[in-house]
Amino acid sequence: MSSSVIDFIATEARFGARNYEPIGVVLSRGEGVWVWDTEGKRYLDCLSAYSAVSQGHCHPKILAAMVEQAHRLTLTSRAFHNDQLALFYEEIAALTGSHKVLPMNSGAEAVESAIKAVRKWGYEVKGVPDGQAEIIVCANNFHGRTLGVVGFSTDPETRGHFGPFAPGFKIIPFGDAAAFEAAINPNTVAFLVEPIQGEAGVVIPPAGYFTAVRELCTANNVMLVLDEIQTGLGRTGKLLAEQHEGIEADVTLLGKALSGGFYPVSAVLSNNDVLGTLRPGQHGSTFGGNPLACAVARAAMRVLVEEGMIENAAIQGARFLEGLKDIRANTIREVRGRGLMLAVELHPEAGRARRYCEALQAKGILAKDTHEHTIRIAPPLVITSDQVDWALERLATTLTQDLS
Ligand SMILES: *Cc1c(COP(=O)(O)O)cnc(C)c1O
Repeated sequence: MSSSVIDFIATEARFGARNYEPIGVVLSRGEGVWVWDTEGKRYLDCLSAYSAVSQGHCHPKILAAMVEQAHRLTLTSRAFHNDQLALFYEEIAALTGSHKVLPMNSGAEAVESAIKAVRKWGYEVKGVPDGQAEIIVCANNFHGRTLGVVGFSTDPETRGHFGPFAPGFKIIPFGDAAAFEAAINPNTVAFLVEPIQGEAGVVIPPAGYFTAVRELCTANNVMLVLDEIQTGLGRTGKLLAEQHEGIEADVTLLGKALSGGFYPVSAVLSNNDVLGTLRPGQHGSTFGGNPLACAVARAAMRVLVEEGMIENAAIQGARFLEGLKDIRANTIREVRGRGLMLAVELHPEAGRARRYCEALQAKGILAKDTHEHTIRIAPPLVITSDQVDWALERLATTLTQDLS
């Protein structure tokens, strides 16, 4: 490593809150599936900023839309209308088949906004006594880092010493429809759940789970809130992961790839009157729905569809998954994935996944460990067959090593 690389890392450590433990690479440029470090070494990005750069790094059409809009108008606040918000609403509603849209910035803000909206719906429409609304969530969930959200996390790292937390959440096991049924009571307003648990290590629920959940929600007048911040916008090979299950959520949360990684843009989408309960002054965000965000998101959605990225995610995801399953290595316990949301879970005896990620880095692949023993693989949706094969070769040689 040159001294300049060490400087960046040391300076971050010296001044920054150390709330991350990054892999030791300092990136300075990106294009499509590739990123380059400060010394010019190239890597295939198999994290995609946790799926935020699904469209590939610095997509030229999103970049052009951003620059063009930045020259014209960036922020008006919602005190005034702007000429991008209506178009963003129209296009995201048409793309996802939603009726109402609430624009926010980060994913966690979309989650918080949905929690507020379903509670309000519960009191004003369902008739739950004031202050009694309950929301059901799953163990090992990940919905962001705000105080409200970490309060119903089950991960001690995520919630430890951050309390006291807000009441009103009930935690059940993921993938267990009977547990969900048992947890519902007359005060239940919503079930907030990820279609595939991403941060938990790409955990795919059993077939039929979401069909049963959908039926139970409908039967009990409970809003099904799907957090598709990571699974949405093509990551799993369909526009929304709910489509694999043949269901429709009442409320859908999008973020991350909604801007192609250029800018924080998130949205709460609803199919019914949930968002309709919010009236002027009851919720807001200075930056939410700003013209720059809207222009970027419009371009990010457009290229996703026009350039066939969703279909490509399905095709390359299947190729990647098959290739991973073909790797004969004692280190591998299980390979999972849907579309380009993939994970390799290692045997505990194989050593920490982080060691394998560092070995992959040396071979020109950036991937991120999650929960000690799992390597998550989520390249941009523009990856080609040749690039998948290139990655598989390097994964095979790395995973057949013993790094324990
Ligand atoms: C990343 C993520 C969030 C939080 O998004 P931020 O933009 O980091 O606040 C919420 N839910 C899921 C499923 C995520 O993957």
